[in-house]
Amino acid sequence: MARLPGPRPGLTDLGVLPGGDRMRPLIIGGGPAGTAAAITLAERGVPARLIDRRDPRAPDGRVCGGLLTPRAVRLLDALGIDARPLGRSIDSIDLMARGRQQRIEWPTSIDTGSNAGIVLSRDRLDAALLARAGELGVDVELGREALEPVIERGFVRGVRTVAASHEMTEPADLVLVADGANSTFGRALGTSRRQDWPYVSALRVVLHGTTTDRTNVEFHFDLERGPGDGLPGFGWVFPGDDDTVNIGVQVSSTARDATAVNLHALLEQLIERVADRWGVAEDPAEAAERAEGARTPVGDSIVPVAGPNFLVAGDAAGQANPLTGAGIEAALRLGIEAGEVMTAATRTAPDALQGFVPRVRAIHADHHKTGRQIVRLTGRPFGSRLLATIATTSWGAPTVMRFALAEFRSSGGAAETLHSVTKLLGRVAPEA
Ligand SMILES: Cc1cc2nc3c(=O)[nH]c(=O)nc-3n(C[C@H](O)[C@H](O)[C@H](O)COP(=O)(O)OP(=O)(O)OC[C@H]3O[C@@H](n4cnc5c(N)ncnc54)[C@H](O)[C@@H]3O)c2cc1C
Repeated sequence: MARLPGPRPGLTDLGVLPGGDRMRPLIIGGGPAGTAAAITLAERGVPARLIDRRDPRAPDGRVCGGLLTPRAVRLLDALGIDARPLGRSIDSIDLMARGRQQRIEWPTSIDTGSNAGIVLSRDRLDAALLARAGELGVDVELGREALEPVIERGFVRGVRTVAASHEMTEPADLVLVADGANSTFGRALGTSRRQDWPYVSALRVVLHGTTTDRTNVEFHFDLERGPGDGLPGFGWVFPGDDDTVNIGVQVSSTARDATAVNLHALLEQLIERVADRWGVAEDPAEAAERAEGARTPVGDSIVPVAGPNFLVAGDAAGQANPLTGAGIEAALRLGIEAGEVMTAATRTAPDALQGFVPRVRAIHADHHKTGRQIVRLTGRPFGSRLLATIATTSWGAPTVMRFALAEFRSSGGAAETLHSVTKLLGRVAPEA
């Protein structure tokens, strides 16, 4: 194990972190989670350093749908970024299955009172977040990859990094792991996925299309691997923030024989089905062939999210919504929480970091638990057919979307009842 030269800032000889402003947080990953934390720290006067391995000269067309919920838009507001002029406003959702269709308005967010989602390409979103962090004085370095932690007596004392083939060890006494779904750095610190909890596999392609005046998105609930053999997942069609269309499919690991599901074939069928309506001219098979995808851990399936002097946030912590696979809102929210907790740790004591765990729980533990139960149910063909039927009725469509987006009102209603019932069932039923 590489040793750090000389005295280490913020560490005593006993290997105990004393706290105090000498600590300088190091953030690994400049996606929504890492940048939200860096901005939060900087706004509170804590100088932070953020590294990301992506090539600074080449926006890489990040694999994402780019759909932001009204809550995500408000979280960006709170971070000092007005995302609205950067993206396309979305005010309605079409829920579709087997020739049926229901259009609903985007559910009004109980937290923000707003019902305006937006689509915004990830390159633009991430660029805006990184620029804001830089503006506030965060020491941002792109093109630098974290290789492995340097651990002594149970604490992270440094991080071995590489940029342009040049390796070095950076001192670190407070670390945020926000390196995304694969999180090799998190694994090196001992995080692991609960193997029997669901994850999602998604595939998307960005195509030229006719999107002028579009303010709607489509969700298709009739993904089937064969006649009557429905899958737990959906297809989506989002207009881009320019004349592009983002078409994708997502399937939960709760499907029978999930690893054998052919996402490319599902995507090809979906492109074929929507091409005329969205002005897509490209051959569906060729388009599906060049699609890119990823597996995302969801529903709090990664543990632990707090160590003696590190936190884990965003996809690295499996915090995306288990029902929708959407993780930008959660990454921003938990990134902000991580920034607040780290600020407290630099000012008081590092055990403040343990306060992150109850904060995460308070934000979405109930919803994620019921979400995990629902995707298990829809993992059976009858469950996915039931969802497709409910989602395309006039009463079911708003309930399904409000439930999926966790927009629960205290006044009660169908989504709240469903939430209470699944929560109750979740308590008595075993987790897996
Ligand atoms: C096909 C697809 C479509 C999706 N669509 C949507 C959507 O429409 N809406 C939505 O809300 N969510 C969507 N998601 C999920 C969303 O993309 C993620 O939940 C979100 O990006 C999580 O943010 P993050 O900051 O945790 O991780 P990331 O955005 O993955 O950021 C991690 C960063 O860490 C960097 N990094 C990784 N390893 C290292 C290392 N060793 N050293 C330094 N840097 C490193 C990476 O370069 C990256 O910039 C989609 C996911 C997929 C796969």
